[in-house]
Formats: sequence, structure tokens, C-alpha cells
Amino acid sequence: MINVAIDGPAGAGKSSIARKVANKLGYIYVDTGALYRTVALKVAKSSLTADKVAEIEELLGVTEVGIAFVDGEQRMMLDGADVTDSIRTPEVSMLASAVSAIPAVRAYLLNTQRRLAAENNVIMDGRDIGTVVLPDAQIKIFLTASAEDRAQRRFDELIAKGMDVNYDDVLSDIKTRDYNDSHRAVAPLKPAPDSVLADTTGNEFEQSVALIESIITEKLREVK
Ligand code: C5P
Repeated sequence: MINVAIDGPAGAGKSSIARKVANKLGYIYVDTGALYRTVALKVAKSSLTADKVAEIEELLGVTEVGIAFVDGEQRMMLDGADVTDSIRTPEVSMLASAVSAIPAVRAYLLNTQRRLAAENNVIMDGRDIGTVVLPDAQIKIFLTASAEDRAQRRFDELIAKGMDVNYDDVLSDIKTRDYNDSHRAVAPLKPAPDSVLADTTGNEFEQSVALIESIITEKLREVK
């Protein structure tokens, strides 16, 4: 199986770019952030905060996180209910960043990610895919852009969804999540030593798609 790992900070455009490239290549696109968001939603529904580590560990024992692909689109299931849309709020984003620092949460989600990659040609995006989840992935990309560019994109997306947000809050959320994600003890966000760096600051979406596609096709020639 061909495994492509794409890691990078929040809002770098990983999911939209990876989805498009996966479609072109006929690979499955796996958004691993959605797994952490689904756990975060369960934590929120249980009226817990991220500092209640023992309670969250216990909660995992009665939590079923499922992932389904409907017409190639990833759907997230929590305890049998489809939560794909409700995991996209700023509150869940922030809570996901906090609960993802809990080692038991990362361990809980590891097998699901590895199984998908063992059974399918995948482009998997996240924070630790090239470093921890799929260290043997044939292709690893670290996708980034300036915090301001990433905040602007996130802001535009949330506004388009009709959410009431302001740019400064989105930028500050992005910076907080960058800090959390790169400073946690377990599986921090960092480029794998054998990753290719792709900076999309100032790019139009299609330029970034072309960049990622060219990195993958070039590497594919090497591995075949
Ligand atoms: O990618 P997304 O922004 O949806 O991820 C939500 C949160 O989940 C991130 O801020 C990060 O803390 C966490 N995450 C992670 N490891 C991954 C994917 C996401 O820790 N592989």
C-alpha cells in the first residue's frame, strides 16, 4: 500500500489540499484531526474539561469512535451517531487540541489510523503521522503557511458556514493551538526528518494542490 503522510499546523490547508489530491490519485483521504475532534465532542457532552485526565481515560472505555467513507467522504461516528458536522465548531477545535495532549487519547486512536493505512492507499493528514503513526510512510510532507494566512483561511471558511467569528479571535486560536500542538510531551507537531517541506503562504488553493501533487508524483517514481 502507498501511504502519504501530511503533517502541519492548524489551517495550513492540509485537508482541502489532501482531499483533492487523494481524489485525483484514487487514494482514500483520512483526516485524523476529526478523530481527536470526535473524542473532544464526547468529553464536552460528558461535561468534562481537558484537565480531568483520569475521568477522560475512563470515558474512553465507554466511547466508540467510528470512521466511515460514504462516496469517498469521511464521516465520523460517535457512539453510533453521525457527528461529522458538529465537530467543526471553534469550541471543539480548542478542546481537541487540549485532549490530544493526553497520552491515553493518542493511544486510543492509534490502531484505527494504522489499520486504515495498512488496508488502503491513503493520504493521511494530522500532526504526527510521519513521525509516530506511520513512520514507514513512503512519502512525508510537512505543509505549513504563516499564522496570518492560516487564520485568514479559517476565518473565511467559518464565515462561509454562517458562523459569527472575528479575525483576531481566529488568529489567537490558531496561535494557541500551534503552541499546544508543538509543545506537548507526546507526539508533538514537528517535521519528520525525512519529510519534504511545503510552504503555501500566499498561494492560491490550486497552486498548493499542484505543489503537493508534484511532490507526491515525483516521490512515487522513486519508490516504484
Ligand atoms: O486538524 P484539526 O485542526 O482538525 O485537528 C484538531 C486538533 O487535533 C489539533 O489541534 C491537534 O491538537 C489534534 N491532532 C493531533 N494529532 C493529529 C491530528 C490532530 O494531535 N494527528
